Amino acid sequence: MGSISSAEILCVGTELLLGDIINTDAAYLSRQLAELGIPVYYQGVVGDNPERLTAALGAALGRAELVVMSGGLGPTCDDLTKETVARFFGREMELHEPSLERIRTYFAECARHMTDNNIKQAMMPRGAIIFPNDYGTAPALALEGSVPGVAGERTVIMLPGPPRELEPLFFEQVRPYLARRTGGVLVSRNINILGMGESAVEDELRGLMNSSENPTLAPYCGSGEVRLRVTARAADEATARSMCDGMIETVRRTAVAPYIYDIDSPSIEDTVIRRLRARGMTIACAESCTGGLVAKRLTDVAGCSDVFMGGCVTYSNDAKARLLGVREESLGRYGAVSEQVALEMARGVRERLGTDVSISTTGIAGPGGGTPEKPVGTIWIAISTREREFARLLRLSPHRERAYLRTLASNQALALTFEV
Ligand code: ATP
Ligand code: MG
Repeated sequence: MGSISSAEILCVGTELLLGDIINTDAAYLSRQLAELGIPVYYQGVVGDNPERLTAALGAALGRAELVVMSGGLGPTCDDLTKETVARFFGREMELHEPSLERIRTYFAECARHMTDNNIKQAMMPRGAIIFPNDYGTAPALALEGSVPGVAGERTVIMLPGPPRELEPLFFEQVRPYLARRTGGVLVSRNINILGMGESAVEDELRGLMNSSENPTLAPYCGSGEVRLRVTARAADEATARSMCDGMIETVRRTAVAPYIYDIDSPSIEDTVIRRLRARGMTIACAESCTGGLVAKRLTDVAGCSDVFMGGCVTYSNDAKARLLGVREESLGRYGAVSEQVALEMARGVRERLGTDVSISTTGIAGPGGGTPEKPVGTIWIAISTREREFARLLRLSPHRERAYLRTLASNQALALTFEV
């Protein structure tokens, strides 16, 4: 297999230098290149200024075999990336008819007027490899070849700046292109983990992460869950797939195993809906401290209406009593944040909406409202089905902010359905 010895990321945009936007493109590209096994030694940011862009690009080409750039592919005169790169390679700019056609179609489809400067987006350095853009107007491109004054071959990849264009373009087209260049195909799988923190996961799997170069194993964390990404590189897809399967099996034999709730799921709620649907079951929810977040997340899953029937946000005691039939006595005796009330909320919504399963949440999300017995972060979640009912107490850190506590509570409430 061939290889690319070093890469550099260069992001173009004055708004990045001003701190108006965060450079998520660089983070994304670095992660992707790491998965491809291409070492990144520098990341740069430069404004929309011709001299400084030329200087930054010259330095990058002097150091790295591959330069991946983002931004400055737009139609306006401060978008200079392609022209500047073309000059280094000594290439003329020429009209790329298929790109112009795509840009015309794009404007027609969204009923927008195409101005003359959009033609600029179809001007390409001679000999460029074009990656058509289905997510916007500016195609991505690559230039390969020799650069006068620099020893060895160079490749520059240019991507549009907006992440919603850059990320799918990179993933669908540039990644396979680079994988071919480095010999073979890449396959990635995600192991979904809940209930074990990122550092604990890393601690458990550090040996495996460090020792295995292919497939690679890397953790990504986000809003209370951890994703382990397994990436294998091989000459063909079937081999790469089976290498991933092997790694997933290895992880299943570690202490992380009990916390794996799915493989390749986009979210907990997606898994919840899929599993209930497979069993022909319906669900409803009754929420206090999560204020509708559980319902929101379930309805984020497109086409969930055969599974999710609805929910109640019952924030006050009165609402819990009136809408769900929670007994005044339970509220008075145990308080709204209690096992008893969580169970009655779940039962109430299940009976009223006639579902197979229901989940409830009631707790103290802070920052105020905590007491010594029930500090901020005390949250009860419950499940009710026709056959059984159960509740669980979460004691989340009182120092975390309200939004995060609510997210964690909704994670756990959704995941409680896995026990049904
Ligand atoms: P456009 O056709 O939209 O002008 P472009 O390729 O010229 O695309 P830029 O003008 O550099 O890209 O950036 C357009 C927008 O994309 C920026 O305003 C910003 O919102 C986003 N963006 C650009 N670069 C980055 C980056 N490195 N990280 C995150 N977002 C970015
Ligand atoms: Mg622009």
